[in-house]
Amino acid sequence: MKKRNVYAAVIGGGTAGLMCAIRAAENHPEQTIVILEKADRIGKKLLVTGNGRCNLSHIGANAKSYHGDGSDTLINILFKKYNPDAVLTYFRSLGLLTHTDSEQRVYPLSNQASSVLDVLRMRIAQLNIETICNTDIRRIQKTAEGYEIATPELRLSAKKLVIAAGGKADYAGRNNDSRELLRSLGVSMTELTPSLSPVKVKSDVLKSLKGIRATAKATLIHNKKIVKTERGEVQFTENALSGICIFNLSRRANRGGYAIQLNLLPDFSDEQVEQEITQRFRRDKDAVCGEIFTGIFHKNIGLALLKSCGVKPSTPCKDISIKEIKSLCRHITGWRFVCEENHDFKKAQVTAGGVRLSEIDPHSFESNRHRGLYIIGETLDIDGDCGGYNLQFAFASGMCVGDHL
Ligand SMILES: Cc1cc2nc3c(=O)[nH]c(=O)nc-3n(C[C@H](O)[C@H](O)[C@H](O)COP(=O)(O)OP(=O)(O)OC[C@H]3O[C@@H](n4cnc5c(N)ncnc54)[C@H](O)[C@@H]3O)c2cc1C
Repeated sequence: MKKRNVYAAVIGGGTAGLMCAIRAAENHPEQTIVILEKADRIGKKLLVTGNGRCNLSHIGANAKSYHGDGSDTLINILFKKYNPDAVLTYFRSLGLLTHTDSEQRVYPLSNQASSVLDVLRMRIAQLNIETICNTDIRRIQKTAEGYEIATPELRLSAKKLVIAAGGKADYAGRNNDSRELLRSLGVSMTELTPSLSPVKVKSDVLKSLKGIRATAKATLIHNKKIVKTERGEVQFTENALSGICIFNLSRRANRGGYAIQLNLLPDFSDEQVEQEITQRFRRDKDAVCGEIFTGIFHKNIGLALLKSCGVKPSTPCKDISIKEIKSLCRHITGWRFVCEENHDFKKAQVTAGGVRLSEIDPHSFESNRHRGLYIIGETLDIDGDCGGYNLQFAFASGMCVGDHL
């Protein structure tokens, strides 16, 4: 097979890779830029983002919303030039109109993720960027001229190489794991764990709560210390807690050894909760405990709270002790769920961990080990909260490298 020489090869035709190739081709119209993509089409994941609406950026994105060792420095440098405004201005130049919701999350005006992918694909066609799909790159050889990529169907020599292969979190249930590829270049990585995912918890009441949602304040606890607090809608599944506020705690909770405490009445003080519940028990002495939460919680939540406190729903309210009422109140404001270790990437939106940020120059994303090698997007040890931060980073890092190539 004859070897082809190209200026730059981008491994991964996803969010970061597409943006990077476009900017590189705009800067070097005379050069050949090739995108190598494992799937049968480029940008497939973009189509499922934001529940099909693609939350492509977040107006208030800053270093506080990103995690990973050294992420503060990297984001502060990157967002000086490639901030949400720069990403959205560039998308506007490609023809994409957007709108921003009350929580500063940005979506295409069409509310269709396909609009975002379409403008990128149109630009790729205009710039004659070559896309080679169904190509899974497993090994790369460093040569004197640059990088050699060989598969049974392909032999390429690229002066510059960009790795934009994403993380292990894969919506389609494939084993998207670029560690082998990165190992072939001697690049060091941190452990990979799922993030922005449901959190598996140990509980004997969850089965009865499956499918139920409740507004709550969720607090992540480690060694009796508060690690992080989020507020929003919690969804109960058969073996996990889910919902955006839980997603934002999952990065650490998935490692196990943590607990999540739910406050089901976050707008009430502890005293107000105790007063309300005590009154209910004292008001109707003929009632049974199973009816006590009527008008506050979903029936099954009430029953699960009673079970967690060891109170039978058939117990007459008049037989309940002050100690039992206090225990119920403690559960309402601090219902504790012990988190289990979770290695399931199928339900995760992003990967925590990846190529150590100390491996790259934060100004250019160029590898400190190999000149001409760049690593961008989720492949790096950086992940954002839920709300458009991850796509913002992927697009911004793609733009930055596309301008540096
Ligand atoms: C269901 C879901 C919803 C999401 N919603 C949002 C959202 O609304 N807002 C937000 O900010 N973030 C969201 N995310 C996260 C966001 O999609 C990712 O963080 C982002 O796409 C990462 O971009 P990337 O280019 O680094 O990786 P990807 O977009 O994953 O692209 C990597 C590409 O590389 C290819 N590839 C991998 N290995 C190889 C190989 N060896 N050879 C060739 N090709 C390879 C993959 O097939 C893929 O196309 C969501 C994620 C999921 C799963």
